[in-house]
Amino acid sequence: MANLIDGKKIAMDIQAELKIIVKDLKVVPCLAVVLVGENPASQVYVRSKARTANDLGVKSETIYLPKETTELELLEQISKLNNDDSVHAILIQLPLPAQIKEGTILNAVSPKKDVDGFHAVNRGKLLIGEDTFIPCTPAGVQEMLVRSHVEIPGKHVVIVGRSKIVGLPLATMFAQKHKHANATVTVCHTGTADLTAITLQADILIAAIGKPEAIKGSMVKEGAVVIDVGINRVEEPSSEKGYKLVGDVEFDETAKHASAISPVPGGVGPMTIAMLMKNTVKAAQNSMRQ
Ligand code: NDP
Repeated sequence: MANLIDGKKIAMDIQAELKIIVKDLKVVPCLAVVLVGENPASQVYVRSKARTANDLGVKSETIYLPKETTELELLEQISKLNNDDSVHAILIQLPLPAQIKEGTILNAVSPKKDVDGFHAVNRGKLLIGEDTFIPCTPAGVQEMLVRSHVEIPGKHVVIVGRSKIVGLPLATMFAQKHKHANATVTVCHTGTADLTAITLQADILIAAIGKPEAIKGSMVKEGAVVIDVGINRVEEPSSEKGYKLVGDVEFDETAKHASAISPVPGGVGPMTIAMLMKNTVKAAQNSMRQ
């Protein structure tokens, strides 16, 4: 059976480290989260971010805007936060309602406060290997591999999914000449002709697809390390909520022959929040150097 890569435990270790750093900082880091509309999953994420921030001594402020908010109104809100020196970090919770252009909004956040790493300037810096805010989910994936002592250099990393927020930054990060990267990277997507032929070659397989259990055990090489980024709600009438969360990987079958695997929930999800906190603390530290 595969070893479990316990994202929840690793995230708690990171948070304990951050708590010590925050205590010694001369400013209280402040994260502003903007949530437009009432997407239930987004509300859960936002509450969870605020809770973790409070545990660490990070100030968090959530701005709730109605789903009818216009692009201009949201831009005005972002401008206020950009100009507020007491706010070090800004996160725009995605997805945004259809009337608002995501790209316009993400590029309106000051790159210095862009703790999600989604501003074009920060994406460019990541691409050329300059210090920047690394998007939280990809950063969490890399960190959980490193802290689980998974050797990355020289390995074949296969990423299924090429989204701008997960798959593409992951590919950029693992291809870099860096001690925690330097891998051979393959990115798969709906245009991939024979997905199984590629996933079977992966030493490290990362699923960021958004389809429940799309990666079957038979698609994974013996001894591979598997990281499941997916979070999918599937109906579960017997549960109190009426649904359960499953990943993009068929866990039980894959765990029989992978060497290590991250679960859902309790894998990449908590790591994403821990890395958001890390970026928030970094933004506060950077603000003191300006
Ligand atoms: P997107 O929908 O933006 O991207 C999905 C990607 O998967 C696309 O590149 C798509 O290909 C590819 N894909 C879809 N179906 C297939 C298939 N059958 N075969 C091969 N490739 C396929 O999703 P995200 O990247 O935003 O999210 C992915 C998953 O990760 C979701 O479950 C999401 O909830 C979860 N997530 C979890 C986070 C966490 O904190 N743990 C944070 C962010 C996301 P194409 O480009 O060709 O359409």
